[in-house]
Amino acid sequence: GPLYIRYFNYSVTDTQKMIMDAARELNVPILETINGNKYIGYGMAQGTLNEGSRMSTAKAFLSPIKNRSNLYVMKSTRADAVLLDGTRAIGVRVTLKDGRSIDVKASKEVILSAGSIASPQLLMLSGIGPKQHLLEMGIPNVVDLPVGKNLQNHVGWPGLHLAYKNETATPPSPTFILDEAYQYLIHKRGILATNGGLNFIGNVNVNDANSKYPDIQFFHLHYPRWDVDNVNTIWKVFPADEEIKQNVLKMLQEFDMAVIMPYVLKPKSSGELWLRSKDPAVPVKIYANTFSQQEDVETLLKSLDFIKKMLKTDTFTRRGVRLYHLDIPGCRHIEPDSNEYWRCHLRHLSTMFYHPVGSVKMGPRNDPTAVVDARLKVHGMQGLRVIDASIMPTITSGPTNAPTIMIGEKGADIIKEDWAAVKDNQEL
Ligand SMILES: Cc1cc2nc3c(=O)[nH]c(=O)nc-3n(C[C@H](O)[C@H](O)[C@H](O)COP(=O)(O)OP(=O)(O)OC[C@H]3O[C@@H](n4cnc5c(N)ncnc54)[C@H](O)[C@@H]3O)c2cc1C
Repeated sequence: GPLYIRYFNYSVTDTQKMIMDAARELNVPILETINGNKYIGYGMAQGTLNEGSRMSTAKAFLSPIKNRSNLYVMKSTRADAVLLDGTRAIGVRVTLKDGRSIDVKASKEVILSAGSIASPQLLMLSGIGPKQHLLEMGIPNVVDLPVGKNLQNHVGWPGLHLAYKNETATPPSPTFILDEAYQYLIHKRGILATNGGLNFIGNVNVNDANSKYPDIQFFHLHYPRWDVDNVNTIWKVFPADEEIKQNVLKMLQEFDMAVIMPYVLKPKSSGELWLRSKDPAVPVKIYANTFSQQEDVETLLKSLDFIKKMLKTDTFTRRGVRLYHLDIPGCRHIEPDSNEYWRCHLRHLSTMFYHPVGSVKMGPRNDPTAVVDARLKVHGMQGLRVIDASIMPTITSGPTNAPTIMIGEKGADIIKEDWAAVKDNQEL
């Protein structure tokens, strides 16, 4: 396909090798390919890169066909509602960059791909959603469907900090990043040509060591001694108390740090989203309900037990690796390393991993939780499909980008199949 998901010849860093060796000692294998037919193990994740540069779906799929006469892309334009004739979708109302609202008519069908937050919002704004809620919002209900429910996301704990002495470390040279820029621009190599340090992952089942499938995925980051940039970046992605960051920065003056970030692959908790307003410019209300199911908390805590086992391996003891107990303002009253401390730590440092799915769930008509059918058509409607991450019935056991691209590819095939089977002038 036009999208390049490739392995690069990542050189395994010293820290990654150390973790791999510790994993081997715990009988967790190292996988040649992380997406193969073995699921438990450590290895390198693939990324959407082409020759060392980030490759987006827009660049991969749309750029090569941008001159086609049957493709028209309106940038900086917001879809506000699906236009309906009874239960048939006949177009989309959009707001242009200059604030004008126009109606765009569809000759065949309308496809929503606005993602797990905006696709349910658009459906509800168009009258497709929970009857009672739409009534309260003053929107006439066209079809009563559980739009916005079943909102799932991966919950993770980007806060387990391992500290160790790196005797050979030297402060980074002032030209370090210029050297990396040279490597990237001239040779398409180096750290700027990777997907950013999060490529080394581990899949483990922390509840059942004999399971074929993991229930935790570990992301890893290495903060080399003195390298404050990495810490600042990660605090932007997963914001936490500034005081905790200062704590980490202080440690970095003395130690290298490896941050272990476990997340629950199949969370039991799920949330929902509701309209806040009839105005399409107003964001929806999101109730993530993270940790509403205690099992998710316990699974994350068990992932810490796994890391504690790693600490006892010869590899880690030889390198003097220790689990650093962050000084968290909200947990100061608790004895560090106690069970209660880690529960408190988890409350302060856990977060969602930006993988919302499921809010326009696919399932059969007789499933009261389903919104679209297996052809991705909205139940009870004609000429309307949803094709994005929101249709996943349950979240994937891993990051959601590649699976969503797969949904897009499959959706395109379905549309072509359905219209190929239609006789002239017939409608779907
Ligand atoms: C910060 C972050 C980091 C991530 N990192 C990774 C990762 O490393 N690996 C991974 O696998 N996944 C990652 N993900 C998840 C991944 O990006 C998503 O799963 C994926 O993009 C979902 O695709 P989608 O098509 O459903 O939605 P989106 O990619 O969100 O596409 C929806 C599009 O619709 C547009 N849109 C929304 N509302 C409207 C409207 N009203 N009118 C017009 N256009 C509209 C949006 O601008 C957007 O372009 C990350 C997500 C985030 C936010």
